Amino acid sequence: MSTLTMTKVHNFSAGPGILPEEVLKQAAEACINFDNLNLSLLEISHRSKSFDAVMENARALVKELFEVGDEYEVLFLGGGASLQFAMVPYNLLRENGTAGYINTGVWAAKAIKEAKIVGNTKVLASSEDKKFTYIPQGYEIPSDLDYLHITSNNTIYGTEMKSFPKTNVPLVCDMSSDIFSRKVNAKDFALIYAGAQKNMGPAGTTMVMVKKDALGKTGRKMLSMLDYQAHIKGGSMYNTPPVFPIYVSYLTLLWLKKNGGISWIEKVNQQKADCLYNEIDRNPLFVGTVEKADRSNMNVCFLLKDAALEPEFDALWKKANISGIRGHRDVGGYRASLYNALPLESVQVLVDCMKEFEKQKG
Ligand SMILES: *Cc1c(COP(=O)(O)O)cnc(C)c1O
Repeated sequence: MSTLTMTKVHNFSAGPGILPEEVLKQAAEACINFDNLNLSLLEISHRSKSFDAVMENARALVKELFEVGDEYEVLFLGGGASLQFAMVPYNLLRENGTAGYINTGVWAAKAIKEAKIVGNTKVLASSEDKKFTYIPQGYEIPSDLDYLHITSNNTIYGTEMKSFPKTNVPLVCDMSSDIFSRKVNAKDFALIYAGAQKNMGPAGTTMVMVKKDALGKTGRKMLSMLDYQAHIKGGSMYNTPPVFPIYVSYLTLLWLKKNGGISWIEKVNQQKADCLYNEIDRNPLFVGTVEKADRSNMNVCFLLKDAALEPEFDALWKKANISGIRGHRDVGGYRASLYNALPLESVQVLVDCMKEFEKQKG
């Protein structure tokens, strides 16, 4: 095989996001010669011994990292996190039941839209009044809800739940953009889902971890492809699964485990976030966009106080080989995504650009 060389780009992309370089190299190798079969991963049966082992190991590793037992099942499905916006109510919301939602941004709102089509849906709290710049607190959670849906990290606006609602109602969480970035008590959740392409792997698969006893209660006649139980019964291979994104997600989770697991990455992620937020707060040219207490450690949103300086600042960071920090079109300014695979060194390069810009303008 040819040697793959990569120029060092500091990749702050919000999604699909950065993956560890060694994972990309292993993934490339698997496209040519997977598991010493002299066949590509892309041209063998998903029911082959080699891929079956990947699926089993990947599902087991998710449970290991979340520290849960056999009361949970792990699936790797297609359709993106957006399909889960529909599958969650379809599988958990009874015909006469009610689901609760917290509206913390674009993704939460899309989840609410789908749930409303499936059944009774109540929005218990929203931060829309202040452009989703904070996490609502102190709302009432009715005890008779079928489930409460939350979004742990708001990729677009840059807020993150530092703690989760205390409730006896089954808790469902969209963790697409902060899964395995910090320690969470997974046993507090009935269902966790995450599109792989932010913090866990490439686009094309979505991890769903569900407590078995939460299922089968809706009374609904289920379409098979939308039925978690059908996928569980099929070992996450009810139909042909997205083999490549699952394999690369598995490699990424192995990378995480090998380097010290969640407790390691949580520390690194805190260092990266502190480094950047400290500079945003110190540097008179910049300002953060969300409530300090609710700042995301994954997606750091900030503005130049004088937007007219943007072209000059953009030229500076581009010269430093920084990529992907332009803000989402709904927010503007800048968004630096500090996903697991982004090294602290890249954050330091961005901070140095901000300091340099201050010197130039000061
Ligand atoms: C990106 C994202 C989604 C949508 O994921 P798709 O896989 O594109 O459907 C949903 N929720 C959150 C929090 C996200 O960041």
